Amino acid sequence: MKYISILGSTGSIGTQTLDVIRQHPDMFSAVALVAHKNIELLEAQINEFQPLLAGVVDEEAYATLKSKYTGPTKLIGGEEALIAAATLQEATMVITAIVGAVGIKPTVEAIQHKKTIGLANKETLVAGGPLITRLAKDYDVQILPIDSEHSAIFQCLEGQHEDNVDSLILTASGGPLRNWKSEDIATATAADCLQHPTWNMGNKITIDSASLFNKGLEVIEAHWLFSFDYDHIDVVVHPQSIIHSMIRMKDGAILAQLGNPDMREPIQYALTYPKRLPLDMNHLDFKEILQLEFIPPRIKDFPALALAYEVGRAGHFMPAIFNAANETAVYAFLDDIIRFGDIYKIVTAVLDKAENTSEFTLDNLLAVDLWARKIANEIIYRR
Ligand code: NDP
Repeated sequence: MKYISILGSTGSIGTQTLDVIRQHPDMFSAVALVAHKNIELLEAQINEFQPLLAGVVDEEAYATLKSKYTGPTKLIGGEEALIAAATLQEATMVITAIVGAVGIKPTVEAIQHKKTIGLANKETLVAGGPLITRLAKDYDVQILPIDSEHSAIFQCLEGQHEDNVDSLILTASGGPLRNWKSEDIATATAADCLQHPTWNMGNKITIDSASLFNKGLEVIEAHWLFSFDYDHIDVVVHPQSIIHSMIRMKDGAILAQLGNPDMREPIQYALTYPKRLPLDMNHLDFKEILQLEFIPPRIKDFPALALAYEVGRAGHFMPAIFNAANETAVYAFLDDIIRFGDIYKIVTAVLDKAENTSEFTLDNLLAVDLWARKIANEIIYRR
C-alpha cells in the first residue's frame, strides 16, 4: 500500500489523482488532502477518502469548515497545512498539485522528510531547480514527473544508456491561440485563452499554454529533471497532443510515448512506478483514423519560449524571477487588469532589473521570489 498526501487535492491534478486512487483502493490510500479554499469539494473528498489529515490554507474557509465538520480527520488551517501534509509521518509519497512557487517550502520539507515526490507543480522546480535537485540527491529522494511531457520523456529514457541519447523533444499543443494572426494575439481575452483545444486544466496553466510560457517552464523543468543542457532540449508543436514527448537517439532514431490526452495516465505512472496497472480511461484506438502533425513553434509571435531558454541558460535565480513575474502577470491578466501581450512585457521588465548574485539558499530564493512579485506589481499598477 502507498500512502499519499495531495497538496492541492481540489484542483485539476488533485481530483484526477484521487480518481486514480479510487480505481485502486487496495494499492493506494490518500492520507492527507490540502486545498486553498474550496471547502465544499474538500469536505466531500474527506468523507469519501477518510484521510488522517486535511488542510485549508485560506484561514476564513478553514474556520467555516472547522465550525461544521465533526468527523475523525484532523483539520489544519493556514500555510502550515501544506507543511503538515508534506511531512505527515504516515505518508510515503507527496503529490505536489498546487499552483505556483507557493509549492517551494512544502516540497523542500517533503524531501527533507524523505517522501517520494510526484511533481506536478513545475513552478517549484523551475524556480528552485538547484536547491530541489541538490536536496533530492542529499536525501536520496526520487522526484517522479507528472507533467505529461516529462512523464513521456521519463518513460522513453527508461533502459536507455545516457551515452546513447542525443536530445529531448517536448511536444506542445500550441494552445488556443496557435492559429491566431500575429496582430491579434496581444489583445486576446482571458475567455479566448481559457479555451484549451486538447487539455482541461486549471486557469493559470491554461493561460501559460496560450502564451507558451508553459512550454518555456517545461523546458527548464526538463533541464532539472533529466540533466540535459538547453542545446539538447527541443520543442515541436503537435496540435493533437497524442505524442506526449519524445527522445532523439544519437543515431537519429526517435522514441515517443503516445496516448490520449488524459492526465490520469502520467499521474498513475508516477504512483505505480516502476510497475504498471490497468487504468480505466478512453485509450488510443488505432481502428480510428489518427493524424499527427508537427509544426515548428511561432517563436516571434510567442516570445516566452525563447525567453525561457535565455533565463534557463542564465540560470541561478533568473528562472525564479521569470516564474514569479509570470505568475503575478497571469493573475493580473485573469483579473482583467492587463492585456495578454503585457504578460511578456512585464516579465522582461522585471528580468531587466534583476540581480543574479546571492547564494542559492531557500531563504534567498524566497526573498528573490517576493522581490520579483513586488516589482511586477509595481509595473502593473503604475500603468
Ligand atoms: P488548479 O488551479 O486546477 O488547482 C490548484 C490546486 O491547488 C487546488 O486544489 C487549489 O485549491 C490549490 N491551491 C491553489 N493555491 C493554493 C495555495 N496558495 N495554497 C494551497 N493550495 C492552493 O491547478 P492544476 O491542477 O491545473 O495545476 C496544478 C499544478 O500542476 C500546476 O503547477 C500546473 O502547472 C501543473 N500541471 C497541471 C496540469 C493539468 O492538466 N492541470 C498538467 C501538468 C502540470 P482550491 O481548489 O481550494 O483553490
